[in-house]
Amino acid sequence: MITTQRVLKALSKHGSRALLRVKTALGAAKDRHCPACGQDVAGFFRYGTEAEWGCIACGASPRERLMHALLDSGRITLPNGGAILHCAPNEASLVRRFSAGAGDYVPADIDPARYDVPGMQRLDLMAMADEARFDRIYASHVMEHVPDDRLVLRNMLRALKPGGEAWLLVPLWKRPSEDGPADLSGRERERRFGQWDHVRQYGRDFSDRIAAAGLEVELIDAGSLPADQVRRMALADTLFRARHPA
Ligand SMILES: [Zn+2]
Repeated sequence: MITTQRVLKALSKHGSRALLRVKTALGAAKDRHCPACGQDVAGFFRYGTEAEWGCIACGASPRERLMHALLDSGRITLPNGGAILHCAPNEASLVRRFSAGAGDYVPADIDPARYDVPGMQRLDLMAMADEARFDRIYASHVMEHVPDDRLVLRNMLRALKPGGEAWLLVPLWKRPSEDGPADLSGRERERRFGQWDHVRQYGRDFSDRIAAAGLEVELIDAGSLPADQVRRMALADTLFRARHPA
């Protein structure tokens, strides 16, 4: 659905990106770094209300950069030869990174035709029946789309091996989580939750739902990383690290 809000966001993204290209061409200092593509850049382009959102070299978002920064530092790890479920694999740099050392890499979405990723599979997380199959599940900006997130979290727990981890990122606001009624219109969802196909908006209490499903949860905020790294890489967002109790 094309909405005014989407068009305005895209226009501001375009303008900011073009401006940064001009600045780079004019010799602006490349004092920023993108851990997704490994390049030094003059800055990150604006998207919506976020002034430093996308990498001008590869387009990586703040949450995409956060994942690379956490993996680079060893704060989170990918097991060699492990089984990884990559939900809604929109971020090309993470497709490469997750699939590189995996023994069983599963890129999946409820609508696989939307992705140009080899081996895409159709997966409805609400009907996922896998048991103790995955070492890692990555779902970034997925949970705010699923009608029954508590069911999906229980399915993830079952699909993880003991000690396995689900890495979850969701749009957050400062208020407690709010679910919309099932029959909410696209317009009304956009008004309340920021996008026409978001069925809820999470707050930090998302962690309570993860814990209620039986997973151990740790919040990793971008702001908890060294300040100079956060500035240089323009890191933002919060990773909900959900672990299957070993
Ligand atoms: Zn980049």
